[in-house]
Amino acid sequence: MDGTTPTLSRCVNLVLLGPPGAGKGTQARLLQERFGLMQLSTGDLLRSAVAAGTPAGQAAKSVMESGGLVPDAVVIAILRDRLAADDCAAGVIFDGFPRTIAQAEALDAMMAGQGRQITAAVSLEVDDAAMVARVSGRFTCTACGEGYHDSFKRPGTPGRCDVCGGAEFARRADDTPKTVTARLAAYHAETAPLIAYYARRGTLECVDAMAPITTVSETLTAVVARTLA
Ligand code: ADP
Ligand code: ZN
Repeated sequence: MDGTTPTLSRCVNLVLLGPPGAGKGTQARLLQERFGLMQLSTGDLLRSAVAAGTPAGQAAKSVMESGGLVPDAVVIAILRDRLAADDCAAGVIFDGFPRTIAQAEALDAMMAGQGRQITAAVSLEVDDAAMVARVSGRFTCTACGEGYHDSFKRPGTPGRCDVCGGAEFARRADDTPKTVTARLAAYHAETAPLIAYYARRGTLECVDAMAPITTVSETLTAVVARTLA
């Protein structure tokens, strides 16, 4: 955040929907910087739980390695704890959650319990075929989390993070072509029905996420601005 961060007069709680590689994490980070919203990524929360060896992490590990979905009860419990923290009060971007109808219903109930609601659910629309290439080539700076890609977004200076100058990068264990294919299948079977779920609630926005990162970001900024109007 910096001095140019707009002040939100109303609480914005955004759901980002889309298959692996659609750009949910990239766009959530940009919105977090621009509007001071808190990015809540269940993938990141689960990876931390796995690294810490918590019971939830132990339950999630093998499912994540195979590209399947972690049981609803495990994910919902982790999310509920995180959402209760003070830093989520000003507004949240849900990245990778909900991923099933049961999770969406649990989220609606959690939000209602706090006197809040999902202001918009944005479906990032992409071609499946492009997703395998996008996900297989990606890596992140271990110091600041900035995302890069072997073909689409290399650091300006090879081996140096553009944002923080860090020299260490990591690739996710599940970003292999085989696992990406399994994750795409899980997306179509379990998560894609959420598009109709949010359409019925009148909160759905569809965005062409094959466009360049900056274009998608501008569209999302307009969506947030519109939900504030
Ligand atoms: P991506 O969106 O690229 O698949 P994520 O980091 O969001 O990556 O998720 C990685 C993995 O974590 C998923 O493949 C799944 O196993 C697990 N996961 C993350 N969020 C959820 C969720 N809401 N429900 C079930 N499993 C989840
Ligand atoms: Zn960095």
